Amino acid sequence: MEKIILVRYGEIVLKGLNRRYFENLLSDNIKEAIAGMGRYELRKSGAVIYIRPLDGDEQANRIMERLKYVFGVVSITLAYKCSKDLKEIQQKAVEYLSDTLKKYKTFKVESKRADKKYPLTSPEISYYVGGYLLEHNPHLKVDVKNPEITVMVEVRDEYAYIHTEKIRCLGGMPIGANGKAMLLLSGGIDSPAAGYMIAKRGVRLEAVHFFSYPYTSERAKDKVLKLASIVARYSGDMKVHIVPFTDIQLEIRDKCPEEHLTLVMRRFMMQIAERIAKNNNCKALITGESIGQVASQTMEALNVTNDAVDMLVLRPFVGMDKEEIVEISQKIDAFETSILPYEDCCTVFTPRHPSTKPKIEKVIESQNLLDVERLINEAVEGTETVIMKAEL
Ligand code: ATP
Ligand code: MG
Repeated sequence: MEKIILVRYGEIVLKGLNRRYFENLLSDNIKEAIAGMGRYELRKSGAVIYIRPLDGDEQANRIMERLKYVFGVVSITLAYKCSKDLKEIQQKAVEYLSDTLKKYKTFKVESKRADKKYPLTSPEISYYVGGYLLEHNPHLKVDVKNPEITVMVEVRDEYAYIHTEKIRCLGGMPIGANGKAMLLLSGGIDSPAAGYMIAKRGVRLEAVHFFSYPYTSERAKDKVLKLASIVARYSGDMKVHIVPFTDIQLEIRDKCPEEHLTLVMRRFMMQIAERIAKNNNCKALITGESIGQVASQTMEALNVTNDAVDMLVLRPFVGMDKEEIVEISQKIDAFETSILPYEDCCTVFTPRHPSTKPKIEKVIESQNLLDVERLINEAVEGTETVIMKAEL
C-alpha cells in the first residue's frame, strides 16, 4: 500500500508574491529540511506538495516530524493513495482503515473534491464510502456531529487520498521569501523568540551576540549558541557573530555618568549590529524589546536606542506581555535553555539608578565622551563568526 505525505500551504499567502517563486522556495526548503532522511519522490500539483517516502513507515514519520518546523507549511497529512475510481476508493478505505477503525465506535466520512470535473459531489463520495465502511465494520455508527474519528477522502489531480488526520503546522512564509535580518541575540527569553517570529515571515536570520569575557563566562556563550541552534531548527543555519564587548563596557563604566550606562551600552550594541548587518547584506535589525519591560525599554529609552541607527529595527514583541512571550519561547522549545542561570553582559554592568526618562541629547553627550568610532571599529574587527546548524 502506498503512503504519501500531503503538504498544504495557504493560498492566501500567495497574494502579492509570485506563486511559482513561492512554491519553488518552499519545496527547496522542504528538501533541505529532509535531506539525509532517505529516499523520496516529491512533486507539486494544485496547492499541494506530495512527498512519497520510499524507505518505509519510520522514514515517513521522521519526515512528518521535520515538516512541523518548516515555515510556509500550513498542514500535513499522511495518506493512502489510490485511483479515483469510486469502487477502488471504497475497497482501499476498508483495506487501509479497518485496523484503525476497530478502535472507535463512531465515525463520519468527509470528502474534498479538488478535481472539479469529478462526476460525484463531495456529499455523494462521503455517502458511498461511509456506507461501504459501515457494511464492513458493523460495530461502527455514523455520527456526523461528534464522531470519534473522521475519515477524509480527497479527490485530487490524478489520484484520491484517504486519511484520518490533518496536522496543523506553523504556517508563515518560506525562509528566504523576505530577505535577511540581523537578530540581536542575548541569552534571555525574549530575543530567541523574537528571531523566531520574524523568521516566520520568511526572513532569513543572522545573529549578533555581545560577549563580555571574563565578566560573562564561556558557558554563557555556549548557552547563546545553543539558543541559536534551537532557532535554526526553524530559520535554517545561522551565522552568529560574537562581538568582544568588554572594552566598550569598561570604558563606559569608567567615563560615562552612571545613570546613562545602560543606554550608552545599548546604543553601541545597535550601532555595531547595524555595521555587521550592512556587511552581511541584512536589511533590518531584530530585538526582543517590549515597551516598559525594563528601564531601558520605556518609550523614552527606546527612542534613545532607536536613534543610534538608520536601519529598520523590528521589535515583534513591542506590544506583548512577558507571559505571551514566554508562551512562544516554550512553544519553540527555547525556554528551558533561556532560563539557565548564566550571567549576561547587561546584568554585570547594571547601574543602580538607570534613568527612565532620558533625553537623547544628554545620552549622546555621554556616549561622545568616548571615542565612539574607534570602539565600534575595534569591536567589529574583533568579531568572530560561527555558523550554527539546526540542533535536531
Ligand atoms: P532578552 O530576554 O532577549 O535578553 P531582555 O528583556 O533581557 O531581553 P535587555 O537585556 O534590555 O532585555 O535587552 C533588550 C534586547 O537587546 C534583547 O532582546 C536583545 O535583542 C538585545 N540584547 C541584549 N543583550 C544582548 C547581548 N548580550 N547580545 C546581543 N543582543 C543583546
Ligand atoms: Mg537580556
